[in-house]
Amino acid sequence: MADELVQVPAREARAVRVAAGGRFRVIDVEGGQVVDLFAFTADDVGEYASAEHTRIWVNRLFPRVGEAFVTNRRRPILWFDRDDSPGVHDMLCAACDPTRYRLLGVDGWHASCQENLQRAMAALGHDRVEIPQPLNLFMSVGVEADGSLTWGPAPTRAGDSVLLRAGLDCIVVASACPQDRNEINHYRPTPIAIQLLGPAS
Ligand SMILES: [Zn+2]
Repeated sequence: MADELVQVPAREARAVRVAAGGRFRVIDVEGGQVVDLFAFTADDVGEYASAEHTRIWVNRLFPRVGEAFVTNRRRPILWFDRDDSPGVHDMLCAACDPTRYRLLGVDGWHASCQENLQRAMAALGHDRVEIPQPLNLFMSVGVEADGSLTWGPAPTRAGDSVLLRAGLDCIVVASACPQDRNEINHYRPTPIAIQLLGPAS
């Protein structure tokens, strides 16, 4: 099977189905862009990759190559096989949503990772899904000694990527975060891509 490249326009999301053992890359096309990544088990979208469960599973705040992301039922759903980026990813921050933008002073509608996820899942027939706390690829969040958080712009360059492998048959949703009210995307949301690779041979 030839590799398939799914382009995700800036501020939007796309869903792909990945069979257990299947691998995929998430690519930051232009650089400096955060990706909110979600994964639901294919046969029950009530089970999904959960950052808070994963933090306990790996006993760390941020993901690392060789480790798994687990579901809210504590089963490995994605494996972090390779990192071709600066290695900066977040597992602390909730997906952006309409309320977040309202609180940031936006007047009227603003795209959000929450609505992107809901739209992508609805297109597959899943009209109601939980909004899991995502894996925020390429997102720079630091924890200071006093417990406070620091935020920075995504340090990725054009073409940087991560390679993930499905542990379960799943639906993966990648959202090109539309946040333009703080510096995480350099105030300039840009496209991403998902490259479906199939199982390792
Ligand atoms: Zn977002």
